[in-house]
Amino acid sequence: RQDFLANISHELRSPLTVIVGYLEALQDSTANHDTEEIVARLSSPVQRMRDLVEDLLTLTRLESSPRPSIYDLDDVNVAKIINTISNEIKGLKDFDHVIEMSIEQGASALGIPQEIYSAINNLITNAVRYTPARGRIEISWQKHGDRCLFEVADTGPGIATEHLQHLTERFYRVDSPRIAKSGGTGLGLAIVKHILLRHESALQINSVLGEGSTFGFTLRRSRSSI
Ligand code: ADP
Repeated sequence: RQDFLANISHELRSPLTVIVGYLEALQDSTANHDTEEIVARLSSPVQRMRDLVEDLLTLTRLESSPRPSIYDLDDVNVAKIINTISNEIKGLKDFDHVIEMSIEQGASALGIPQEIYSAINNLITNAVRYTPARGRIEISWQKHGDRCLFEVADTGPGIATEHLQHLTERFYRVDSPRIAKSGGTGLGLAIVKHILLRHESALQINSVLGEGSTFGFTLRRSRSSI
């Protein structure tokens, strides 16, 4: 818990320092500054703080709410979720990847729709963020026995074996020269882990350094999934 608090303070302090620096520059009436440019530069650290607080709230909410019972679960249209997310991602300005999708008709799962959306969004966003331009992202959603399997595979830098068991820890990041500063909060996979725990599932990670990574999980099939 102490580590966690120290990490939060550290993560919040960096963008805050930048914001304070710009505000001081604006207050300095003797300096010849471009107000418009300074205000524009403030938006990135402000957005960073907002993302962090949002993710912290999400994590707290997930950790403190009771596990859903089978009666709390709905039929989740995972195919639609995947389509929505991939369309949003294709619209981003840095997007220059190839996305391939393989979705089995009639594969439908039980879950809490918003949470499944959040888990899939985190995994697909990571695949795109960590994979260099023109890389390939393969997303699949298939029946898998009495469950359904979601997977996202990328041709990014891959992750060394010793890091794999730590990836879902809060604020754990692989410190690799191949991975440029991603701008992420370091909480995404911790959120995914908690969501999957609430769905009696777990995150599966396969990765080969220099070749790419595959992140996946299974969900219970719904009755409408024939
Ligand atoms: P972040 O906000 O830093 O992306 P996450 O919890 O989502 O935080 O991920 C934790 C760490 O796992 C990342 O910092 C990165 O080092 C590594 N990681 C996650 N997804 C991938 C991926 N698809 N390829 C390579 N590394 C990844």
